[in-house]
Amino acid sequence: MKLYNSLTRRKEIFTPRFGNQVSMYTCGPTVYHFAHIGNLRSYIMEDVLEKALRWEGYDVKRVMNITDVGHLSSDADEGEDKMLKGARREHKTVMEIAKFYTDAFFADCAKLNIKTPDVVEPATNCIEDYIDMVTVLLDKGYAYAAGGNIYFDTSRLDKYYVFNDFAQDDLAVGVRDDVEADDNKRNKADFVLWFTKSKFEDQALKWDSPWGVGYPGWHIECSCISKKHLGEYLDLHCGGIDNMFPHHTNEIAQSEAYLGHKWCNYWFHVHHLNTNDGKMSKSKGEFLTVSLLEEKGYDPLVYRLFCLQSHYRKGLVFTWENLDNAAVTYQKLLTRIAALNPDTGAEPDLEAVKPYQAKFQKSLDNDLNTSMAVTNLYDVLKGKGLTDADKLFLLADFDRVLGLNLLQGAEKVRKSAKTAQSGTGEYRITAPADADPALAEEVNALLLRRYEARKAKDWAESDRIRDELSGRGIVLKDAKDGVNWTKV
Ligand SMILES: [Zn+2]
Repeated sequence: MKLYNSLTRRKEIFTPRFGNQVSMYTCGPTVYHFAHIGNLRSYIMEDVLEKALRWEGYDVKRVMNITDVGHLSSDADEGEDKMLKGARREHKTVMEIAKFYTDAFFADCAKLNIKTPDVVEPATNCIEDYIDMVTVLLDKGYAYAAGGNIYFDTSRLDKYYVFNDFAQDDLAVGVRDDVEADDNKRNKADFVLWFTKSKFEDQALKWDSPWGVGYPGWHIECSCISKKHLGEYLDLHCGGIDNMFPHHTNEIAQSEAYLGHKWCNYWFHVHHLNTNDGKMSKSKGEFLTVSLLEEKGYDPLVYRLFCLQSHYRKGLVFTWENLDNAAVTYQKLLTRIAALNPDTGAEPDLEAVKPYQAKFQKSLDNDLNTSMAVTNLYDVLKGKGLTDADKLFLLADFDRVLGLNLLQGAEKVRKSAKTAQSGTGEYRITAPADADPALAEEVNALLLRRYEARKAKDWAESDRIRDELSGRGIVLKDAKDGVNWTKV
């Protein structure tokens, strides 16, 4: 598989250090609020990457942290503590906030078919590991104490800005209008490893350390949690592109200073999702979450498809119109799959499907070209010489990577189509193909009663049913031999 490596800034053939074993690390969420769909774009694409590697036969071990302490609102150690801010907002304790939003995060992931990593580690579980790493960094001369905090000394490194060649002066690290610059830092780019002088009097979570009671800086958790579960060498590190600096840059600085050797070979960064007004999390004042998508009637997997339709290294523009297009595409795709016969009893021809699998692999191997991989689904549907059994086999196989619930979705369409053809031989009731099966059953039953009332010239009952349906947004359109309905 060829992947773009942010560290070398070119596409490279992905080769794990040890045979087919892949150690993969993902920066997890800071659990002080619901994840917005921009964050979730990264998790969807990382999920596809993990599944693609597994599909190709790699043995992947994936680890993710949960930031439940120490992440300040500016990534450069400045501003408010995010967890504390969440706790204040909701009049809860920090641990209650962490628990609630961790659960909410994984509930969103489940709806988006994002597999939970093999190891999920909350940052507050590993305090001893941070203290050990900071102690070693101090011993090796990579860290210093100042003003009660422990800082990483970036001037000790040959190259600190590993992802780009910015001149140090170009980066306003920690210097924003609304935050005070930290005078304790020897160099502008230095960052906190351990705080004991908290600006927050009511900082809820504090631990004993050799340097006084305090709490870890944000970046140290990923270096330590990765080392704890994946050892000294990491094959693949993932995250949103906004984490590249300073977070990932600092992770590399700490880890390699501590280990004394190169740490991670491949860095995978997912680009931003933006709305038309340039914001990542909001559209016209609405905070974009999976729950909001559901409230508006979208299947969360429509959002997954929307993400897959474009490349992870391109910015993606979110609009409701774009999402509507993805919803139509998804529904059409399911309807086409629903037209295949799952009950032929035939076995797939494993020779006939091979060229299609090879093509799909080529899409994945080309820097995870997911839009091409989605197109490969249509190649299968159009596939000449493929039986329905071959097609269904391939669609299920590709869906192990794409995660669009294609066969389950098609089954639902098939069921609602069956319901839609209820009625009698003389009077056919047709529900929309994408109708919720429970609703379709109910509406069709009412329409059949209306038909029978009309046959019996019971106009009052017939009108009552029509009014009830129209009150529920059901629009009727008479057809030659029956009625078609839609829901507005
Ligand atoms: Zn991280």
